[in-house]
Amino acid sequence: MNIHPDIAELVGEIDFDPDDLHARYLAERDRRVREDGNAQYVEVKAEFSRYVEDPYVEPGFTREPVFDEVQFAVIGGGFGGLMIGARLREAGFESIRMVENAGDFGGTWYWNRYPGAMCDVESYCYLPLLEELGYIPKHKYSFAPEILEHSRNIARRYRLYDDALLQTGVTELRWDEKAARWIISTNRGDRFMAQYVAMANGPLSRPKLPGIPGINDFKGYTFHTSRWDYGYTGGDSYGRLTGLADKRVGIIGTGATAIQCIPHLGEWSRQLYVFQRTPSSVDVRNNAETDPAWAASLEPGWQRRRQENFNVLVSGGDQDEDLVHDGWTDIFRNLTGTAAKMAARKLGRPLTREERAELMVLADYRKMNQVRARVDAIVEDPVTAAALKPWYRQFCKRPCFHDEYLQTYNRPNVALVDTHGKGVEALTERGVVANGREYEVDCLIFATGFEVGTSYTRRAGYDIVGRGGRTLSEHWAGGLRTLHGLTAHGFPNCFFLGFTQTAITISVPMALSQQADHVTYMVGEARARGRQILEPTAEGEQAYVDEVHSLSRIGERFYRECTPGYYNSEGAAGNRNGFFSNMYGAGPLRFFEVLNAWRSDGRLQGLDLR
Ligand code: NDP
Repeated sequence: MNIHPDIAELVGEIDFDPDDLHARYLAERDRRVREDGNAQYVEVKAEFSRYVEDPYVEPGFTREPVFDEVQFAVIGGGFGGLMIGARLREAGFESIRMVENAGDFGGTWYWNRYPGAMCDVESYCYLPLLEELGYIPKHKYSFAPEILEHSRNIARRYRLYDDALLQTGVTELRWDEKAARWIISTNRGDRFMAQYVAMANGPLSRPKLPGIPGINDFKGYTFHTSRWDYGYTGGDSYGRLTGLADKRVGIIGTGATAIQCIPHLGEWSRQLYVFQRTPSSVDVRNNAETDPAWAASLEPGWQRRRQENFNVLVSGGDQDEDLVHDGWTDIFRNLTGTAAKMAARKLGRPLTREERAELMVLADYRKMNQVRARVDAIVEDPVTAAALKPWYRQFCKRPCFHDEYLQTYNRPNVALVDTHGKGVEALTERGVVANGREYEVDCLIFATGFEVGTSYTRRAGYDIVGRGGRTLSEHWAGGLRTLHGLTAHGFPNCFFLGFTQTAITISVPMALSQQADHVTYMVGEARARGRQILEPTAEGEQAYVDEVHSLSRIGERFYRECTPGYYNSEGAAGNRNGFFSNMYGAGPLRFFEVLNAWRSDGRLQGLDLR
């Protein structure tokens, strides 16, 4: 790698060979890329359905079906649904029905109750509506039970339990042109009408399993991390898994979920085997209890300011101060556009494209060297330490932060089974086959993540039949088509919350909040103007689709060189259903500006109100 002299001076001494690292990264990627990509996973249905059953409700729930009419139906009771529900209530909408598969609100925090579950994004930014509820989280990084309880409190505060249909899965949404209403059918026999519907299904909600031989042969106990069976393991989200004291436990996967529950499994299992295909990058967490004096000093509007400050910093923007000051803001400051801007200021001139790329890659190598050095500093056995080192750039996979994960491998009852990028090969009646050897276990836990890169309607679990009988899966067969990611032509009074041609940010609740504000504005305008139906025009939708396509696709080139994972559709970086493929490429700051400008303008461009 030829380093431009100005960049060399800026980055200072380089104590590694960038070409060696680049070659190693590519070799590690090549070892893992496979023809079947996303198809390596099996869909959790039919004989796998038990993996998605809800272990947190009493069995046998029944109720009478409903056949009435509401003004607003919101599908999904996670953060997206809660945000839109809250904003609609604030705007004076009274007839709101939340529909949720789970037994309660909370979305991902309802399902993911595995031991050690916590949020590694700062709680003061991450938990929605803190000021509205007058609540301050107990720690800088909240544990899952607190987030679940906060979700319930939002639902209580905004009366979203009223009229809610919990433990209810939508099976179809169908637009009735004559009635100008949506007809919503569910797996509980309901068939009710709604003027408006909002989809808040969540991007990572359907668990997936590896499609390996013998997947159904294992005779021991088994479940997915998002359906943790405490009846079997004992304990709760805080640990104390006493049921595992005499058990040999296997866990497949070492992503963000696994690294949080492995310390507890290591502490409580008789023997733990961790089956690893690719190690995560695990940096310092540094959790701390909330300082009451700091909490008392907060002034009204504090959460919004903090969220905006965080969001700007993790979107490559400038701020005088870093209020959150953690691993996230650190990596974004050093490895993204922010670093390039600072370098340009130091040099007194803009960086060329090549200089910018050099700066980023060198900072990235340095950061990942630090992450790898941390493994050596913590893990005593050198072979295990070597296997736990991630060989890819920081954003190839989701960065992780944890202070007990690596330490777990120093326990005598914990063995890392590194599969050198191959993954586990098969299951047998007794256990797991990896590297040609069978590992007998009593309990096998799948920490193998969630469907990403499959179609929206498959992940949602139902299709939407719009005007003229056209389904959403037909409308989106050639790729997503929306106006601002929130509405689609042919689907009147229907809104999508989440990552459908919107902008992604680490601060997900911030993005959902912007979307909820925008939807509430649109329906508020329809109400104020005495209109019943709103729908993007074909031209309005096309103009937005063109804009999204004209923007560079997020990181497509970058992700081609990455080791596979859900960020790059398991090695197929061009997949048009991929995690980043349908995002607004100019970034969240610009996207929020576009929404704000559209609202301020007041002409509702591209939207038809009738
Ligand atoms: P991931 O998809 O990130 O991880 C799945 C894991 O399973 C990977 O380690 C993968 O290996 C492994 N795997 C898949 N197939 C096999 C196989 N055949 N053999 C061995 N290993 C296999 O799912 P997670 O549930 O860990 O995380 C999903 C997302 O949830 C995160 O990225 C994050 O966005 C979110 N999350 C957020 C948290 C937070 O604190 N805010 C906490 C936890 C999760 P490979 O890498 O090789 O594909």
